[in-house]
Amino acid sequence: MKDEESKKSFGTAERDLVALGIATAAIIMFVGTGGTVLPSIANALLSNGKGPDPLLTNALLLNIALIIFGWRRYRQLTHEISERKRAEAYARELAEIDPLTGTLNRRSMTAATDALRARTNAQGQAVAYAMIDLDNFKQINDMHGHSIGDKVLVALSERILNELPKDAVLARLGGDEFAFVIGYDPALRSRIDELVIRLFDRVILPFRLGSLVIDATMSIGIATDCDETGINPHVTDAAELMHRADIAMYHAKKQGKNRYFWFEPAMENELRFRNELETSIRAGLSDGEFVPYYEQQVDLQSNELVGFEMLARWDSPRLGLVSPEIFIPIAEEMGLISEMSESLMEQAFADALLWDENLTLSVNISPVQLRDPWFAQKLLKQLISSNFPAHRLEIEVTESCLHDNIGMVRSMITSLQNQGVKISLDDFGTGYSSLEQLRSLPFDRLKIDRTFVRELQESEGNSTIVNAIVSLGRGLDLPITAEGIESEEILATLKKMGQLKGQGYFYGKPESSEQVFARLAKMSKLVVKNDTADSNVLDLAEFEAIEPAEPKQSASL
Ligand code: C2E
Ligand code: MG
Ligand code: MG
Repeated sequence: MKDEESKKSFGTAERDLVALGIATAAIIMFVGTGGTVLPSIANALLSNGKGPDPLLTNALLLNIALIIFGWRRYRQLTHEISERKRAEAYARELAEIDPLTGTLNRRSMTAATDALRARTNAQGQAVAYAMIDLDNFKQINDMHGHSIGDKVLVALSERILNELPKDAVLARLGGDEFAFVIGYDPALRSRIDELVIRLFDRVILPFRLGSLVIDATMSIGIATDCDETGINPHVTDAAELMHRADIAMYHAKKQGKNRYFWFEPAMENELRFRNELETSIRAGLSDGEFVPYYEQQVDLQSNELVGFEMLARWDSPRLGLVSPEIFIPIAEEMGLISEMSESLMEQAFADALLWDENLTLSVNISPVQLRDPWFAQKLLKQLISSNFPAHRLEIEVTESCLHDNIGMVRSMITSLQNQGVKISLDDFGTGYSSLEQLRSLPFDRLKIDRTFVRELQESEGNSTIVNAIVSLGRGLDLPITAEGIESEEILATLKKMGQLKGQGYFYGKPESSEQVFARLAKMSKLVVKNDTADSNVLDLAEFEAIEPAEPKQSASL
C-alpha cells in the first residue's frame, strides 16, 4: 500500500519535472521567437508592413500557452508539496504519540531513550528508566467501564508529568503501563529515589471523576545504565534498559505491589525460575500431577476421627512433592486455580465416597475462585456429577475473601448452605475481619490459625488470643476447630476449653489417598459393598498392607 503511494507520488513528481522542462524550453523559445515575431508584429501595425511569418506567430502563441501551463503547474506543485508535508507530519505524530494521553508511545520511547542516553553519556551522566504499572487497573475497568478507565489513565499521566522535571521523557507503553526516562548524575542516585517517592506521594491520590472516587496504587521498577563502577557495559541499548526495568517492576508486584525496586541481576534468575515453574505447573495440571493429600480432623473430647481436610500437593517428577504455599499463589495469578481446584475436588470426592459416610471432607477455596459469580453453581454441579452428598462437604474460605465483594460472597455462601454445604472461616485471626462481618456472614465454623495455637505451647497454656477466639465463637454460637495441634500439652489445654474440633501434626501429617485408605481400612471405616460388580468395591487386603507412613518431604524451593 505504502509502496504504491510512493510510486504514485514519484510518478507525479516525474510528470512535474517534464512540465517544468517544457515550461523552461517554452520560455527559451519565447525569447528566441519573440525576438523575431514581436518586432515584425509591431512593424506591421505601425507601418502597415509585411506581417510576421504565420509559422513563427503560431510558435509564439504555442510558447505563451506553454508558459501559462508551466506556471499553473508550478503553483499546483508547490501547493501539493506543502499538503504532503503536512500529511507526513501528521502521520509521523500518529506513529509516535499515544492518542489517549498525548505522551510518547512504546516505539518512539525506544528512540527517545537511545537519544537521551547518547546525550547524557557524552556528558558523563547516566540515565534511569522507570517502568510504572497500575496495580488494580483491570478491576477499575471491570467495575466502572473502559471510559472511566481511560479517564484514570489520562489523569495519571498528567499527574506524573507534573512531577517530572522538564528534561524527563514520559511514554505510555500500552494499557496501564507508563515509563519515563531521565538523565542524572551517577553520584546522586538518591535524587531518583526522591523523585519516585514523590510520585508515590502525589500521583496515587484518589482519582475523583464526578461522583466517583477511585483508588489506585502502582508498582515501579527502575533500571540504570550506570553502576558503582561507572557506565554498565551490559546495558547496551534502550531495549536492555526497558527489559531490566520491567523485571524490577515485576519484582515490586511480587513483593506486594504499591512499591518500587531498582533492578538487580538476581531478579532475572528469579524470573527465569518463575517462568520455568509456570510452564511446569501448566504441564503438571494436564498430566495429573496435582493430587489431594488429607489431614485428619478429630473431635478433641471423644478423640474420634470426624473427617479430613484436603490439602493440595504437586507431585512433580522434577521437583518432588511441592507445597501448596508455593504453587497455589502462582496458579491464582496464572488464572489456573479454578481448573486446578476442580481437578483436586474431583479426585477428593471420588476418594471420600469410599470412606465411612460419617466422615466429612473439607476443601480450601481460593479468594480468586469466590470472585467468579458462578462459583456456587459450578461447585453444586460438580457435587451432583460426582454423586457426593453436599452435607459431607465443608468449604474453607479465608478472611481475604471478605474484602472483595461481601454482598456476592454472602449470596454465594447462602446458596451453598441451602444445598447442605458447610462454610468455615479458615486461618481466623490473621486477616483483620471485623466483628460486624463475622456477624453478618452466616459461617458454620471458625478455624483458629495455627500460629495462635502454637502460642499455647510457648505461653504454657495461657494464650489470650486463643481464649478470646474461643469465647467469641461461643458468643456467636459458632463451632471452632483448632489448627496446628503439635503436642500433648497443647491438646490438653484445648480440651479444657470445651467442645472443639482439632487437627495438626500431633494426629499425623497430611497423607496421600492410599495412606488414608490404609488408615481407614484398619479402623473399619471404609465403605465395603457386597456387590462385587460395583466399581466402588475396595480390595481391603490391598490397603491393609499399606502403612500410614510419613509422607514424602516437600521440596524446598
Ligand atoms: P490451611 O488451610 O490453613 O491448611 C493447614 C496447613 O497447616 C497445611 O499446610 C498443613 O499441612 C499445615 N499444618 C497442619 N497441622 C500442622 C501442625 O501441627 N504444625 C504445622 N506447622 N503445620 C500444620 P499446607 O498443606 O502446606 O497448606 C498450606 C495452605 O495452602 C493451606 O492452609 C491452604 O490455605 C492452602 N491450600 C492447600 N490446599 C489448597 C487447595 O486445594 N486450594 C486452595 N485454594 N488452597 C489450598
Ligand atoms: Mg484450610
Ligand atoms: Mg488454616
